Amino acid sequence: MFQHDNDPKYKAKSTCHWLQQNKVKVLEWPSQTLDLNIIEPLWGDLKHAVHARQHRNLQELEAFCQEEWAALPPEKIKNLIHNYHKRLLVVIDVLVRFLFSVSKGYRKITYHNWRHGFNVGQTMFTLLMTGNLKRYYTDLEAMAMVTAAFCHDIDHRGTNNLYQMKSGHPLAKLHGSSILERHHLEFSKTLLKDESINIYQNLNRRQYDHAIHMMDIAIIATDLALYFKKRAMFQKIVDQSKTYDSEEAWTEYLMLEQTRKEIVMAMMMTACDLSAIAKPWEIQSKVALLVAAEFWEQGDLERTVLQQNPIPMMDRNKADELPKLQCGFIDFVCTFVYKEFSRFHPEIQPMYDRILNNKKEWKALADEYEAKMKALEEREAEKRRQTACKTSPCFDRERKWRKRPSN
Ligand SMILES: [Zn+2]
Repeated sequence: MFQHDNDPKYKAKSTCHWLQQNKVKVLEWPSQTLDLNIIEPLWGDLKHAVHARQHRNLQELEAFCQEEWAALPPEKIKNLIHNYHKRLLVVIDVLVRFLFSVSKGYRKITYHNWRHGFNVGQTMFTLLMTGNLKRYYTDLEAMAMVTAAFCHDIDHRGTNNLYQMKSGHPLAKLHGSSILERHHLEFSKTLLKDESINIYQNLNRRQYDHAIHMMDIAIIATDLALYFKKRAMFQKIVDQSKTYDSEEAWTEYLMLEQTRKEIVMAMMMTACDLSAIAKPWEIQSKVALLVAAEFWEQGDLERTVLQQNPIPMMDRNKADELPKLQCGFIDFVCTFVYKEFSRFHPEIQPMYDRILNNKKEWKALADEYEAKMKALEEREAEKRRQTACKTSPCFDRERKWRKRPSN
């Protein structure tokens, strides 16, 4: 009997063929993380023992593996199973401590607070599981992606990259580009250096480096400036997936294409980060106000600290334009992500449907506001016309002309 963690080496054709030929039953239930595999430590012992015997060919390697496996003391296996509960509690304890520290790392600001961080983490989990995107990634990679999503805006200050540059913030001097995103990443990596909350503490060097590499790419990808550069590459991957006859063949191909997998992951991070736009209208309308409120706070700072006029999006005097701005944001930024993801995996269609509905709602509000403004403008124009006539000779002529019949 065999259970694996979706690592490509276990899913490779040759491994599957070997397992089938040797009638090894592969467990069907969802795989566990490396930490939670009851007999995981045995693999290290086996590797060590086989390596010490220095095999000369494949036959010898197989024989040594069989012999060393059979020689593993049953007491050790019994202990591992017996201690499982205790080890599980330690893992859960570290995980809870880590998530608590991440939540505390978020500042109590209007929008980029722990609520946003948590939502992005939850959406990543949903995209992987309900959206079925997990099939391209190992358990370790999926874990790194969910972690990155939870951490992606940690220690956000409620102002954007441009503001850090304009205000000459030390972070802008430290990081040349993607200023805040690099800060969120460094902050997260610093948390993981504390052994009492390091959720990756049981990984070997190679696994640890890979998890950090995935987090690097995922968190930096939340810089929207980079998203626009990656759109064409993602679209190509979606197109390519349509050229495969079977889902299995496509999955097997993409699993081993690290660069393409990372582009999909980067796009998933954007889909998670913007996901408030794909929530039911009751939620979207409230969250949009929170985002706007944080932007207006930055606009106020630009006026007072930088002595500059903010752009309309950050100008609280132009708050009424929010529905129009939301329509533009949906059309030019958000639609692509969810449209392409639902083309890639139909399971993601509900997110695209919601964004279409939210666009309708914002458009109705924008039209209502525009109609009101138009009516107001017409009334103003009429008033101006009347005032102009009262003070101009035409008014006198008109008055005289009107008075004539009564004379
Ligand atoms: Zn974010």
